[in-house]
Amino acid sequence: MITQDSIILENIEIAKDIYKMTLQGDFNAQPGQFINIKLNNERLLLRRPISVYDVYEDKLVIIYRVVGSGTKELSQEKVGNTLNILGPIGSGFPLTNNKKVVIVGGGIGVPPLQLLAKNLKNKDITFVLGFRNKEAVILENELKKYGEVIVATDDGSYGFKGNVLQAIDEYKIDFDVIYACGPSKMLEFIDKKYQGYKEGYISFEERMACGMGICYGCVCKPKKLDNGMLRVCKEGPVFELGVISYE
Ligand SMILES: Cc1cc2nc3c(=O)[nH]c(=O)nc-3n(C[C@H](O)[C@H](O)[C@H](O)COP(=O)(O)OP(=O)(O)OC[C@H]3O[C@@H](n4cnc5c(N)ncnc54)[C@H](O)[C@@H]3O)c2cc1C
Repeated sequence: MITQDSIILENIEIAKDIYKMTLQGDFNAQPGQFINIKLNNERLLLRRPISVYDVYEDKLVIIYRVVGSGTKELSQEKVGNTLNILGPIGSGFPLTNNKKVVIVGGGIGVPPLQLLAKNLKNKDITFVLGFRNKEAVILENELKKYGEVIVATDDGSYGFKGNVLQAIDEYKIDFDVIYACGPSKMLEFIDKKYQGYKEGYISFEERMACGMGICYGCVCKPKKLDNGMLRVCKEGPVFELGVISYE
C-alpha cells in the first residue's frame, strides 16, 4: 500500500459544513476510489476514508462533510500543511460506453460521481441528485457540463419534492445503466428495484478501521457467501446490483 505526504493546496468551505480540499501529489485514481487520510492529531488514530472528487496530474481533490472529530480536524487544516495519504484504493465504478446512463447521488454521496461522469464516454447522462433541502444542494452546476441534472429535495424547497427514486419515475428517465452513491437506505432501494433487469453499480459506505482489508471492520454480507464477507475497503466500495444482502 502506497502512502505519501501531500501538501494541502486549498481547504475551503463550499456549503454549510462541506469543504473542498486540494492535495498536491502524484495520484492515479479511478472513479469511485477513495483515499484514506491520517489525521495530524495523534489522538485520532484511525485514518478517515474520503472519495476522490477529481484528479489531475499533480493533485487530487476531495469534498467532505464535517460530521465528527476527524472531519472537524480536517476542516481546520491550513494551506501548506501536510497530510499523510493512503491510496487511492478500493474498487472503482466500471465504465460503460455508448449506453444511456442515470447517475444518482444522495447528499455527500454526490462528489465521487463527478469523476465518474468525467471518465464516461457516454454522451447520454442524466443526474438525479437528492438532498434534504435547498441549503444542502451541492455540485449542481459542476455536473451540468456532463448532462442533464435533476435535483430533488425531501422538503421541496428546491427542485422536485420527493426522493431520487420518485424523481426517476416522475421524469420517466429511460436508462440502460444506473450508478449510485449516497445513504445506505437509498442504495438498498435502488438495488432492490433494479437488480435483475438493469445494469448497475452502487458505492457503499461503512465505518472503516484499517482500510487495507486486514481487520474486516467494514464488511457487508453478500447474497452468496461462497467467498465470505465483502470488505467495503477492498472488494468495495463499489458493488454491482444484486450482490449485497440486506437481510
Ligand atoms: C469508501 C468511503 C468513502 C467516503 N467518502 C466520503 C466523501 O467523499 N465525503 C465525505 O464527507 N465522507 C465520506 N465518507 C464518510 C467519512 O469517511 C466519514 O464521515 C468520516 O470518516 C467521519 O469521521 P469523523 O471522525 O469526522 O466522524 P466520527 O466522529 O467518526 O463519526 C461521526 C458520525 O459520522 C458517522 N460515520 C463515521 N464514519 C462513517 C462512515 N464511513 N460512513 C457513514 N457514517 C460514518 C458516525 O456513525 C457518526 O454518526 C466516506 C466513507 C467511506 C467508507
